[in-house]
Amino acid sequence: MLACRAVNIQTQALRPAGALDAHPAEVITCQSEGDLSQVLARATREQRRVTMIGGQRSFGEQFLPVAGGLGIDVSRLETGARIVEHLDTGRLLVRVGGGTTFEQLHAHFPGHRVRFVPTSDRVTIAGALAACTHSAAGYFATAVRAFRLLLSSGEVLDCSAAASGLARELFDVVPGSFGALGVTTFIDLELDPIAPQQALGVHARYAAPRLDEGFFAALDAAKDDPRFDEGMGGVIYGNRGRTLVLADERLPVDHAQPEHLRALLTDDNLEEQAFTHGLANRFPRIAESTVTKTYPQGIERWAPWYGFQFYQRGYDRSYEILGRRGLKYSLARLVGVDRRVPVAHQSWFFPRSITRAFVEAYFKVLDAFPGSEKQGEQQDIVLLDPCPFPAHSLGRTQQGVGVLTSSYSLASLSPDQRARIFTFFKQVSHTLYEQLPAVRISLCKQVHCDRDVLRRMHRGWADLMQHYKSQVDPRGVLTSRHLEMLLDR
Ligand SMILES: Cc1cc2nc3c(=O)[nH]c(=O)nc-3n(C[C@H](O)[C@H](O)[C@H](O)COP(=O)(O)OP(=O)(O)OC[C@H]3O[C@@H](n4cnc5c(N)ncnc54)[C@H](O)[C@@H]3O)c2cc1C
Repeated sequence: MLACRAVNIQTQALRPAGALDAHPAEVITCQSEGDLSQVLARATREQRRVTMIGGQRSFGEQFLPVAGGLGIDVSRLETGARIVEHLDTGRLLVRVGGGTTFEQLHAHFPGHRVRFVPTSDRVTIAGALAACTHSAAGYFATAVRAFRLLLSSGEVLDCSAAASGLARELFDVVPGSFGALGVTTFIDLELDPIAPQQALGVHARYAAPRLDEGFFAALDAAKDDPRFDEGMGGVIYGNRGRTLVLADERLPVDHAQPEHLRALLTDDNLEEQAFTHGLANRFPRIAESTVTKTYPQGIERWAPWYGFQFYQRGYDRSYEILGRRGLKYSLARLVGVDRRVPVAHQSWFFPRSITRAFVEAYFKVLDAFPGSEKQGEQQDIVLLDPCPFPAHSLGRTQQGVGVLTSSYSLASLSPDQRARIFTFFKQVSHTLYEQLPAVRISLCKQVHCDRDVLRRMHRGWADLMQHYKSQVDPRGVLTSRHLEMLLDR
């Protein structure tokens, strides 16, 4: 039987973020690269398929082993965080273990940050790279300068822009490969300096009672205004209901910050935030009313930079916080707050130039599901620069990218109502892909997409992966339920 030096195989219940169910799987924890290559060599000999497990913040089956497969928990791989080089204008080049979370990265280098991060600080650096994550301003992988890739054969490749041959090609292809090509054990990142007291301004550039022309104009203007390079995005509630466009700028360090104008969900009281996320999930219409009242058009609120970048920290900790013993936790559960904060969560990528066509087609599909909009938490849209990564869900693009993310609260719904939301999501992917063939569902947030639509949409991605897998993992040792669905022909 496979075993690491220190830790043996255990059966664990693995539960993707926002999901209702957990999945039991055999998992082994590896704490060093040596342990890991031993386990990989043994798995290859025994023809056992393995899946890398990072922070377990995926919304789908990305870190779930296949039937009979083995999960390798790499979240505790030695971090070895260190400065590699002091760059100009205060920037740092640092090396960290792939299992380092953004929370740990901040603890190691508190005066510096990665600009484009996912909104939970419990995501690992390798997990963010594997999914080619983005923020409301850019792609995380643009901060990555190099990484060490351990192949299933035990061979190690040092991948960077300066490498040659396969290692150079893999530097481009690993972001978005979901662990299909190798294990990223160490990652070199470029960090920007940031003052601990640095605040960001969140501007409500547009607010309207219905989706209209002004929303799209404000969205484009916010994206094209260089002042708002910390992020931007629009929110649409219900079926073409209330809209909001927010745009974010870096404030002067001595900027006055009145407490009553603090942006929602950005402080460090994570317990309070877990309650807020739990209540918003249970009562989405109250959340809509609070957000739209907080951000009338023209208002500016402020946020501390860390709380702003990771504003979903509370959501991510809700499972442990809301499950605690005590009166307030019991009361929350009594009114129906589910500590899992279950969501149906889906994202679609499309060329920025068809944002409007995408949104119109999306709501036409929603028209056929009257009443469902009442269960929707929100639909949000961000506009990003062209994507340089070939394995990103939309691939490498010449033009800007639009992302629409739709979140439905599942906490208070009957099984029939839930099934109706899932059908709506399936229908959006199916119909929009037929009408607008450039559309791709995100490989990060795709749970409710039909298998055949998903595979047709991402055939180019699968071909790219197979091309490199034949060179770096010819026996197909590295997989997951997610990869098996996409790559198995
Ligand atoms: C609250 C919350 C907010 C989020 N916000 C955003 C956001 O703003 N933008 C965004 O794009 N995404 C966002 N996500 C999604 C999240 O960033 C991705 O799902 C990410 O991949 C999760 O990484 P993880 O460390 O949790 O790894 P896991 O979920 O455990 O694994 C993710 C993938 O990485 C692979 N993997 C893990 N470690 C390694 C390794 N060392 N080597 C090779 N492969 C590896 C796994 O096999 C799997 O395919 C959010 C998720 C949550 C829960």
